[in-house]
Amino acid sequence: MRILLVEDDASLGEGLRTALRRAAFAVDWLQDGASALVALRDGGIDLMVLDLGLPHMDGIEVIRQARRAGIDTPILVLSARERASDRTLGLDVGADDYLGKPFDVNELLARVRALLRRSSGRAEPKLRVGALELDPARLDVTWRGRIVDLSRREFALLRLLMERGGSPIPRESAQQRLYGWDEDVASNALDVHVHALRRKLDPALIRTLRGVGYALDTTVAAGAAAASAAATAADGGGEGGEGGGAA
Ligand code: CA
Repeated sequence: MRILLVEDDASLGEGLRTALRRAAFAVDWLQDGASALVALRDGGIDLMVLDLGLPHMDGIEVIRQARRAGIDTPILVLSARERASDRTLGLDVGADDYLGKPFDVNELLARVRALLRRSSGRAEPKLRVGALELDPARLDVTWRGRIVDLSRREFALLRLLMERGGSPIPRESAQQRLYGWDEDVASNALDVHVHALRRKLDPALIRTLRGVGYALDTTVAAGAAAASAAATAADGGGEGGEGGGAA
């Protein structure tokens, strides 16, 4: 998931970028309203966190123009403005949620998750595909009943694939949603993460569709669920000594 952060206060922006990255989001940070609008128009943004008092173009104007252009990206407004009229104006011109400064960063992250959940049409906070379960709040993944240790990027990629169910995600789109534009990305980075996920979960769980991209194999995910339930019934579980995975 890729988040556009628009905040002209350097230390707040820096802190938010760090917090969002720790929550396994790719972050593009901009400091003025006009470039925010350009970035939104370019697409590939899953959510925008927007300060209202910005140079070049006010946050309210950014929202107004974005919505007028038919851009439906979820928008979470941040503002130090005290007056209730500013808050209601933000929502009325098309923002989806509002957080007054100062705020607790954990509340911001929870609101971001809630907005993303809503925009993808889910009510359930956890993602589940067969025996695979991902908790976006706790940042953990359970596969066949055991917690799997994933890197931040592996987690983000798996979240993307699970969001799609079994539908493929194009390579380019996956890449775009895993990295901010200021990050150096090796050309094979995506393959490295896919390889790691296959190694830690199941070699057949992620399919490579040549010329298309990657997709979760829902049969493998579900079959593993059935197999592990059967194994548990037969001998009381016991996966053997294979767990853990190499670093
Ligand atoms: Ca500001």
